[in-house]
Amino acid sequence: MTEATDTAPVWGRAPLPLPGVGDLSEEQQRGAACVWCKEHLTAEIAADLGERRIRVLDSHITAFPRGCHPCAGEAALRALHDHAPRCLRCIEDAGSCDIGVALRRLMREARR
Ligand SMILES: [Zn+2]
Ligand SMILES: [Zn+2]
Repeated sequence: MTEATDTAPVWGRAPLPLPGVGDLSEEQQRGAACVWCKEHLTAEIAADLGERRIRVLDSHITAFPRGCHPCAGEAALRALHDHAPRCLRCIEDAGSCDIGVALRRLMREARR
């Protein structure tokens, strides 16, 4: 049993909540497989989710999670719907919120 806490991603990347980060396989941690559907990833279909420092019990590991475009696009949309209505910056001027901008950028990237 591992107790893992997902820490904030490197600033500027989309702050997507990941599924059970502590339970990710080694492949998923290094970005070789989608963190959501476990699909094997190639550069063309992978969306970078930002480097994460993950606390596992007393130590930390660094993960480089990636998702396939369909999963990442869906997660970004969900995160944006969750974030924007509660964010003053997004309500007043969507372009001024780094989180909102990062999520929209990820959605655009995922649609390619
Ligand atoms: Zn996927
Ligand atoms: Zn915002």
